[in-house]
This record gives sequence, C-alpha cells and structure tokens, in this order.
Amino acid sequence: MTRLLIIGGSDAGTEAALRARLTDPALEITIVVADAFLNFSICGLPFFVSGEVDEWRSLAHRGESEIADRGIEVLLGHRANAIDVGRQVVDVEAGGRTTTIPYDRLIVATGARPVRPPIAGVDHDGVHVLHTMTDGIELRRRLDQRPPVDAIVIGSGYIGVEMADALTRRGIKVTLVGRAPAVLPTVDPELGGLLRTELEDHGVAVMTGGAVDRIDMHANRLTVRVADGRHVSADVVVLGAGIRPDTELAASAGIALGDTGAIRVSNSMETSAANVFAAGDCVETWHAVLERPGYFPLGTTAHKQGRVAGGNAAGGRVIFRGSVGTQVVKVFDLAAARTGLSEREAETAGFGATTVTTVVPDHKPYYPGARDLSIRVIGDSRTKRLLGVQIVGHWQAEVAKRIDIAAAGLHQQASVPDLCDLDLTYTPPVSSPWDPIQVAADAWDQQVGSTAAV
Ligand SMILES: Cc1cc2nc3c(=O)[nH]c(=O)nc-3n(C[C@H](O)[C@H](O)[C@H](O)COP(=O)(O)OP(=O)(O)OC[C@H]3O[C@@H](n4cnc5c(N)ncnc54)[C@H](O)[C@@H]3O)c2cc1C
Repeated sequence: MTRLLIIGGSDAGTEAALRARLTDPALEITIVVADAFLNFSICGLPFFVSGEVDEWRSLAHRGESEIADRGIEVLLGHRANAIDVGRQVVDVEAGGRTTTIPYDRLIVATGARPVRPPIAGVDHDGVHVLHTMTDGIELRRRLDQRPPVDAIVIGSGYIGVEMADALTRRGIKVTLVGRAPAVLPTVDPELGGLLRTELEDHGVAVMTGGAVDRIDMHANRLTVRVADGRHVSADVVVLGAGIRPDTELAASAGIALGDTGAIRVSNSMETSAANVFAAGDCVETWHAVLERPGYFPLGTTAHKQGRVAGGNAAGGRVIFRGSVGTQVVKVFDLAAARTGLSEREAETAGFGATTVTTVVPDHKPYYPGARDLSIRVIGDSRTKRLLGVQIVGHWQAEVAKRIDIAAAGLHQQASVPDLCDLDLTYTPPVSSPWDPIQVAADAWDQQVGSTAAV
C-alpha cells in the first residue's frame, strides 16, 4: 500500500490529505502536526481576540472526527525534526521520544513563522504575536484576565489593522505603529489614507513611518520607541511585523528554496526532491500576472496548493494555475481589497501602467443606503491589459465581489474594457445597470483613450 505522510495539519496539510483520500481511497495517509490544533482557521483569530467569536473551538474548519472518519491518521503533538529524502523517512518527535516514519510520498506543509524583529525588548512579557491558535488563546486569556487600558500594535499590514480593530472593540485604547508611510501598504497610499481616517475615526492613534528601535519595560508598562525619537507606552504590545516561510526542515533535507526564501515548487507542487511535494505558506507561489514566483502567504492560496499537492501525491495530475495577489481585509466599517499589481508593482515590472481612481455609489442612489466605493483601476496604457484593481468601501457594499470580478479577469488576461462586456447582476438595491467595477473600467478606458494600441 502506498504511504503518504504529510507534515503540518493546517490549511494546506489538511486540504492535501482530504484531496489525496478522494483521489486514492486505498492510500495510507498520516498527518503529523507539531501543535495540538488540526485544521483551525487562524484567519479567524482577530475575531476571537475581539470577542466577536466567543469560543476558539468554533474556529475549526472541520472536526477531528470528520478527518479520522475518512481513514486519515492524525498525530497531534508530533514534530518532524528531520527528513531523509534518500531513505524516504522522517524523524518525528513526540513527548521526548523519536520515531522514524517511512513514506512513499511526502507533503511538506509547515507554513510560516511570525517575524520577531531583532530589536531590544521584543521578548518582554506582554509582547504578543498572533500567528498560531496558541498565540490567539494566550492573548485572549491575557485580555480577559487582566484587561489592559491601552495597547500598541506594531505593523500596519492587514493583521495589524485587524488587530487595531479587534482591540478597540474590547474598549482598549490602541496606537498603531507602522514602518510604511501609509496604512496597509498592500494598497496604494491614496486608499491607505481612507483606512487611516477610518482607524482614527474609531479612536485609534496612527503613527506611520515609524521603524521601531526598541521596546522598554518599566513597572509593567511597555514603551515602544521609534528610530526618529517618537515613543508611546501601553500595557500590551501586539507584533504584526510579517511572517517568513518555515523552511528549515525542508532546507536541511537538501530541498531547494527559491529566490524568495520559500520552498521552490513546480506547478504540480513538486519540490526538487523525488516524491516530495510542498504547499501553503512554506512555498513560493506562481504569480500569474508577473509570470514568476512570488511569496503570497494566504489561506486561499494554501487551500488551493494543498489540493493540488494532495491530488498529485496520490497519483493524480492536477496543476496549480497561480495566484494574482487577491486579498481583502475588514477594518471597522470599511473593507479594503486588492487584486493583481499595485501601481508601483506594475511600474517596477516594466508595464506602461496608468491608474485611474473613480468614486462610484455601490447601488442606485435612489434606493436607500447607497455608499461610495473608491475604485482604482491599473492597466497597461499600451495594450489596455488589466493589471490590477483596488477598492475601499463600506464592508457591506460588496467590495470583495467586485474585486473577485477583476481577479477572474486577471486570470483570463482580460483587457480593462473587457470588464465592461461582462454580464453582471443588477437590481437597484445592490448595483446599477453598469456595475461600479464597470463604471471604473470605463473611466480608465476613456482616460487612456485612443493612445492605446488595442
Ligand atoms: C491572524 C491571521 C489572520 C489571517 N487572515 C487571513 C485572511 O483573512 N485571509 C487569508 O487568505 N489568509 C489569512 N491568513 C493567512 C492564513 O492563515 C495562512 O496563509 C494559512 O494558515 C497557511 O496555511 P498553512 O497550512 O500553509 O500553514 P500554517 O497555518 O502556518 O500551519 C502550519 C502547520 O504546520 C505544522 N508544523 C510546522 N512545523 C512542523 C513540524 N516540524 N512538524 C510537524 N508539524 C509542523 C503546524 O503545527 C501547523 O499545523 C491569516 C493569518 C493570520 C496569522
């Protein structure tokens, strides 16, 4: 019987196991998981910390028994310490004992680790990261047992802004400190400005352009000092300084990494080692617009890559078609979403990028409750090729639906005017005869006009 061993039981690992089972019902499948949590939605942790989700157990994507019922063996609390790709075995340690597990096919799904910047004081008690279920449960316990008056969130990326929102909801006074000049650097600064206003309107103090120098602790108060001399003190600090792929296990087995530092994989999710596949936050992801590997550690991507790795490891033939960098985040009453390239990324990649921003109501204004969407369309003015779209608007104004339309267009290498040809839904309470994404695409086309070649 063919033995499939999977290292890691989060989004990528569990998805891989389930797909492998569907592909080959006879496969012997084992997942080893270093922690005690199989298949939990860590994307939901900010909402557990805020209290919007009361119970951490409800973050489970599936129950453990649902996986066991499919004949998949799950070994929680088992850490893989070494892979021997020649002998096809993995050394796994649990409770101080090491056993050697043989495999015919192996999937590495070890995910990522949060970056702890090399600054003094980063390990003080009261400085938290939020990456694993354990991190989330510990932070929530701290907030429940000793409610802080104030908190500092370091990092203004999507996890940082989600945490500023989550802590504010608990009645904590929050300061957000970000190194980038604008909030949420994954969108262009013009839209980042809207998010900054939203945060400030909800009482969050925002400090941008602030590279943190050190964290001091005095009488249980933490002081975050920024290189330019600014400083702020609070009871709790949450670090959202990014993540890096967890590749040590793979690299020490001689499995090749790519330029991004993540594991290099083919579009079948094969690594450089025979019979070894990899998926999720530990691997490089093919960028379908740039046509080169990048690093996009997202749950959506991890699930898709896990499915491909699992299917192929079980003898199927499936391809991962790549990602276009689609992402959405909710901050208080706003949602901010992007897909494709930002203006700067498009310019750096050598496209003749033109960006047009349009502000459009999300539905017919005569129907109550219409709200403005700010839509940035980025296209190549030479070819009219669609390169990217970013939208900020009320979180119930279908921001994500509109970005997903653009994402589908990017996957098909659509032009900007192609978006106007799509047959999209319309009724006055939810849209207009020309959906806002089409109004924005048309505005781009009119501005670029006949200068384009197509
Ligand atoms: C707070 C937060 C919010 C997020 N929000 C979103 C969101 O809204 N949308 C989105 O798309 N993405 C979001 N993400 C990202 C998303 O959660 C990750 O991309 C996804 O979880 C990656 O899945 P993974 O399986 O590759 O890795 P991980 O989830 O990191 O899991 C790694 C697994 O490997 C195991 N492991 C590691 N090393 C070993 C070892 N040596 N032996 C055995 N087991 C090992 C771990 O125990 C774990 O089971 C968020 C992430 C965080 C932290």
